[in-house]
Amino acid sequence: MLKSARKRVLTAAVALGAALVVGVGGASMAGADQHGAGQATPKHDSSIENLGLVKNEIKAYYGDDGDHQPSADSAYARDAKRVESQLKHWLTARSHEHGKKALVLDVDDTVLSNYNYEASHDFGYDPVTNAACVEAKCFPAIFGMPALVTWASTHGYAVFYVTGRPHDQQQATLDNLADQGFPTPAGIFTKVKTAPYPPYLTCSPNCSTIEYKSGTRAHIESLGYTIVANAGDQYSDLKGGHAQRTFKMPNPMYYLP
Ligand SMILES: [Mg+2]
Repeated sequence: MLKSARKRVLTAAVALGAALVVGVGGASMAGADQHGAGQATPKHDSSIENLGLVKNEIKAYYGDDGDHQPSADSAYARDAKRVESQLKHWLTARSHEHGKKALVLDVDDTVLSNYNYEASHDFGYDPVTNAACVEAKCFPAIFGMPALVTWASTHGYAVFYVTGRPHDQQQATLDNLADQGFPTPAGIFTKVKTAPYPPYLTCSPNCSTIEYKSGTRAHIESLGYTIVANAGDQYSDLKGGHAQRTFKMPNPMYYLP
């Protein structure tokens, strides 16, 4: 699915409290994803967070002092580093296990920050300006992520990116990652929009995000890898199994089902 075709919903401030949930397997993630599909229709405006105030809260959370950049001492940075610490602890404990081990990562707001783009576009999404940003390799690394991914790739983990970015953005994405200090991955999977589709994605061309991502992880497993950890900023990055453990990066800016 094209990112432009996805429903992007600015989540309520309450999503900040859900940003740090770290789940194991699909069941725990399903319980944590309470801010997406199936929301009850509000009966009064007082039960809805004011959108303008939520945007201001998000800016404060990221430590935006007006330059539309996250601050290294922000609450967001602390949350991200806490998840990274948990991820590294998990990977460390399993780094000496035998067999082909993999770390699967989403890209946007998991290893590369979209905050600057989002804040510069009033937390909206425009496929033309977003594609221009991708081509310009404008996305900075999330605090601590280049070091963590470098550590993983030098301690026995094959690193795979599974991103919803379209296939025609694959090279620009790899270039952006390299520019930001990430090591060359074992592989990257992007969304194929036209035939021929990957044969392992039988849902093509109408795969949901969960089908695309979990089906791709199953394909990685079919190559002989054990996916020790899967990290993403959306619950749709994490549902569907095919990972020993999932790690939820913070992102209160949008919701992708
Ligand atoms: Mg993402």
